Amino acid sequence: MTVCKTTGLTVEQQNRWPFLYSHLSTDIEIPSLTNVDEQFIIEMDKEISKILKKVGDGKAKSRESLTRHLTGLLQRRFQRNAKVQAFGSSVTGLSLGTGDLDLCLSFKREQPKKVLRKIAGLLREEGMMDIQQIPKAKIPIVKFTDSRSGLDVDISIENRLAIYNSKMLKGYAQDKRVREFILMIKYWASRRGINTAFEGTLSSYAWTLISIQHLQMTNPPVAPNRQKGGKQNLIEINGDTFDISNDSSPFESKNQQTLASLLIAFFDRFATRWDWNEMVVSIRNGGPLNAEKKKWTHTGPLPLEIVTGQSKNRMEHIMPIEDPFDHEHDLSRVVKAEGAMTIQEEFMRALHLLSQGKSWKDICAPVMEIDEEPEDFFHDLRNQNTDSLKQRIEEMKAEVVQVEERIHSLVTERQNSKELLDLLRGTLQETRNVKSNRQSILAELRPLSMKVQELRQTRDGINDRIAIPTKRIQQEMVRMFDSLTAEVDVFNTQSLGREKGDFSYFFELQAMYKASIESNQAHQEFIRLRREQNKEYKALKNTNSQEEDVLNRLVEKNPELKGINLHPKTVKEFQQNANKLQKSINIQYSNKHELKREIGRIEAWIRIATSKGNQRPRKDSKPRQNRRQAPTVNINEVRERASTGGSFSLNELDALLSKGGISGIESKEKTSTSGQSERRKSGRKKSTYRVDPRQGRKRGKKQSRN
Ligand code: ATP
Ligand code: MG
Repeated sequence: MTVCKTTGLTVEQQNRWPFLYSHLSTDIEIPSLTNVDEQFIIEMDKEISKILKKVGDGKAKSRESLTRHLTGLLQRRFQRNAKVQAFGSSVTGLSLGTGDLDLCLSFKREQPKKVLRKIAGLLREEGMMDIQQIPKAKIPIVKFTDSRSGLDVDISIENRLAIYNSKMLKGYAQDKRVREFILMIKYWASRRGINTAFEGTLSSYAWTLISIQHLQMTNPPVAPNRQKGGKQNLIEINGDTFDISNDSSPFESKNQQTLASLLIAFFDRFATRWDWNEMVVSIRNGGPLNAEKKKWTHTGPLPLEIVTGQSKNRMEHIMPIEDPFDHEHDLSRVVKAEGAMTIQEEFMRALHLLSQGKSWKDICAPVMEIDEEPEDFFHDLRNQNTDSLKQRIEEMKAEVVQVEERIHSLVTERQNSKELLDLLRGTLQETRNVKSNRQSILAELRPLSMKVQELRQTRDGINDRIAIPTKRIQQEMVRMFDSLTAEVDVFNTQSLGREKGDFSYFFELQAMYKASIESNQAHQEFIRLRREQNKEYKALKNTNSQEEDVLNRLVEKNPELKGINLHPKTVKEFQQNANKLQKSINIQYSNKHELKREIGRIEAWIRIATSKGNQRPRKDSKPRQNRRQAPTVNINEVRERASTGGSFSLNELDALLSKGGISGIESKEKTSTSGQSERRKSGRKKSTYRVDPRQGRKRGKKQSRN
């Protein structure tokens, strides 16, 4: 593997971080953006306004209806004990339309146990996709994708601070310029792949805070500090106190800079001027905090040392960003070494491209292929003849019918499956009582059988030793007793030896008699317990037939149950089957939606084409003399209607068609210019700024030997 001797980066890494690499390995100039050409700013502002028209939250309606659906679902599951609140970009107004839906689930009374697992189960039943549980995070989360809308959703538990900080961000975003600036930074970060906290870069939230910090620091400030002064508003969460005070009053800025000029200044600041080693982003403070005072100076290895394998230790406070309410929380905690390198690379790249006069579109060129809609919504239909398009519509309509039939049969199958599932659950419940009865009989039978066995052993043990029956022993004892106690015949006396023998025989008979009585008692007890045991066996048999009766009755009433193995495992199998069916239903629904969308689009085009006498309006056609100024059209709304086959006015159609239907709809864009009037000086100024020293640049070493 070829490695650069100056930086230690491999060729693959050099290609991955080219701007950063050239700064780390050579002494190239860092471009300055302090004097940028006015015309360049005007052009960039035009570009930005086109992008802003496209971004917006086109999925706002889907978000709303999904939020409603999930709220109902969760409240039913947790018997109205649950409270669902949306937060994040769907409430702050800072959505690009590509972000996730953030929901917070809190409980009015006690939080149910294993809540994440319950939510995940519920979502599975609903056919949601890619369900992941993150139970060990400070705020437990369930992540998933809604199979219908394709929206990514995060449900976090008891995330109260997020509700408050979203409310504050909404306050910041009420200013159009602030909102649009944040949207552009989020747009850049998202297209350049540096806005994914779980992949080791910064979250959208962190980028929002960095953006606000920049706008607070411009001169004059574009954004206020909404946490300054005012009364404290303290809340307690898990024993910690937080001040959530937030001044939401409107703010009039004296700053006249346009978005483009603010963005240029942003990159100038964060690519070179911001010393991440000493400065902590803090919107609560309205400007950077001193990292040393906050005890947030960077510790651990440099990102470069980690990516080159020189260290495996952890980095702390690599790009310190303070949470506005939770002051101990550094949002860069999630940033990994590779992420830090990439973020630094992106800052350097933006700086270089801007200094070369490259467009905002170039700066935001997606790192990954993005499925972007073509500029012209009807581009593929323009050259087709109406009849063949009508034919296509008919074919698609026939396909919709087929899909609907498929949906119908799948829904019926799922319903049957669900009914059977409920039936199975009910059956198992009914037989459960019989089963528990059987368990208690078995519980009694076990010691009883042992006792019976014990008695049998006692009895048989004695009987093995004493072969003579008790009665016989008794007779023998009487006979011996008589003989031993008879009057002595002095002429016929027994020898002493014989007499001794008779006595010992008598004693032996006595012992035998005692053992024989014991054996008899054991036998009696044995008989009694055997009878009891038999009764229990009968009862056991009875439970079997009771269970059979219950099942027979159920099968009689519900013939579907016939042949099904009634076991909890079977219930699980049925549940899995129902889930699979739900997934297939969702896929068919989305097919149907796609088909309808396409039908709507083609129908809209046919209406346009025929209303214009089949003549395609030319982009450069001049407006008719008497034509009134067309009112401003919300193109996203028109496109949505076009895509679902809705109706719209000719003016809206015109707007849709002009310049390809998406961009440049509003008649005349007022282009605001920046406060910077100086022309951009040609050539690049030798900069005094350095690349973030924590990237490990070793000054003086210029050569890279690959
Ligand atoms: P997007 O439109 O990309 O989803 P967003 O504005 O919703 O962006 P997210 O990163 O999804 O931003 O965060 C949503 C909300 O979650 C934030 O507004 C914030 O309240 C909370 N949040 C996100 N990340 C953190 C974090 N690391 N610490 C504390 N709160 C966070
Ligand atoms: Mg979000």
